Amino acid sequence: GGEYRDLKVTVAGLGVSGVPAAKALHGLGARVTVVNGTAGERQQAEAAELEALGVTVRLGDGDTLPEGTELVVTSPGWKPSSPLFAAAAAAGVEVIGDVELAWRLRGPDAAPWLAVTGTNGKTTTTRMLAAVLTAAGLRTAAVGNIGVSLFDVVLGEQDYDVLAVELSSYQLHWAPGIRPHSAAVLNLAPDHLDWHGSMAEYAADKGRIYHGNKVACVYNAADPETERLVEEADVEEGCRAIGFTLEAPRMSELGVVDGLLVDRAFVEDRRNSAQELAETADVQPLAPHNVANALAAAALARAYGVPAGAVRDGLRAFRPDAHRIEEVAVLDGVSYVDDSKATNTHAAQASLTAYDHVVWIAGGLAKGAEFDELVAAAADRLRGAVLIGADRALIREALARHAPQVPVVDLERTDTGAMSAAVAAARQLAAAGDTVLLAPACASMDMFSNYNQRGDLFAEAVRAVLPDTAARS
Ligand code: ADP
Repeated sequence: GGEYRDLKVTVAGLGVSGVPAAKALHGLGARVTVVNGTAGERQQAEAAELEALGVTVRLGDGDTLPEGTELVVTSPGWKPSSPLFAAAAAAGVEVIGDVELAWRLRGPDAAPWLAVTGTNGKTTTTRMLAAVLTAAGLRTAAVGNIGVSLFDVVLGEQDYDVLAVELSSYQLHWAPGIRPHSAAVLNLAPDHLDWHGSMAEYAADKGRIYHGNKVACVYNAADPETERLVEEADVEEGCRAIGFTLEAPRMSELGVVDGLLVDRAFVEDRRNSAQELAETADVQPLAPHNVANALAAAALARAYGVPAGAVRDGLRAFRPDAHRIEEVAVLDGVSYVDDSKATNTHAAQASLTAYDHVVWIAGGLAKGAEFDELVAAAADRLRGAVLIGADRALIREALARHAPQVPVVDLERTDTGAMSAAVAAARQLAAAGDTVLLAPACASMDMFSNYNQRGDLFAEAVRAVLPDTAARS
């Protein structure tokens, strides 16, 4: 990190990415200026914290490049089209992201990276991977887009054997130099296109995760786009393409046979051509897309040399994060499931098609998405739908086209309080054996602070009915 001493670095953005980056650079002796376009309460508090350390912070102008800037380190949220980057380009100044910076500081020497990206399932897969690595007795952490900060890992005191690194498409866009040991792209569906500009650019940014891989590029055999990204990647000699599938695996694949997760890529016992890893029942929550996540995690762990038994132990020890297909309660034989994290149609389709009879609570900000495919795929499972949020008309219209038989309650509300009304309406539509599923297929910011609050309010509304039911029965 010696080359950062006295370097004039501009950090674009505060928050979970900018603040740790500014602190790390300041700690290395760089002359840091943080710029941020907005100047709300949170930004002022963060600015005060940084200024106390001696970092310069400029609030209210995120567009102008500070005089003398020699390097820009950006937060993932900043669009490539931001004026600040045009100014940097004009001045011949390099722009990198926080992940690239962490890699340059001590990436390869701190520990090898097993990296995970995809439109959906990143956090779940990364945590499953960390659980499997831990079960194998390895010193590891889930880092990147989740959990421990990458800067804490590369600059901290603790030693790691290997890291489970979650990377978003934004982070990958700004991290051209990282070279993971092995990496997986879980799936590719349209998302964040306003940021990337087009589906092609979004895919290309995701595909960067394979660049320079040493041992394995893990792809989704059911998603040819992910395989294409492997084919196009510039990898190290000997690096293998490993597929995962929910069906019986071919050679160089992990898959499922008779309720078992099976590895036909990294076989330990040469007399057998396949290795049993775990039972599908070891995967929590048990849903097809989540078995796919488990296989991807297993593939990365196996690429690192983890034995089969640790895959099973790790998957059993894994606990899913909140708001990801989380069963809140069973009430009158109806299961209430919080999948508030299903913020796009691809995610919602995965959870909707995991249940046979669903009363669906949906709606919010569509981010330019279309709902026809999702609704058509789920139509015969829907017992009813309850719609909330700004873009609910798009879902209502798709339901009218592809599922005209399904009763729809359009609450015509975009206020935070609508969630308890939605739960009440869903309860009316549901019969014993059904699942009431919050899988909005939309972002939450029109009504809620984030998907956490949206899921919490759903759970609260469900629990509010509980004692009353208990009293009756
Ligand atoms: P990410 O970190 O990519 O947002 P998460 O693991 O937090 O992914 O899961 C987000 C949501 O995406 C889940 O609530 C679930 O609805 C859905 N999901 C998870 N894994 C998959 C997958 N492999 N394919 C499709 N949808 C998925």
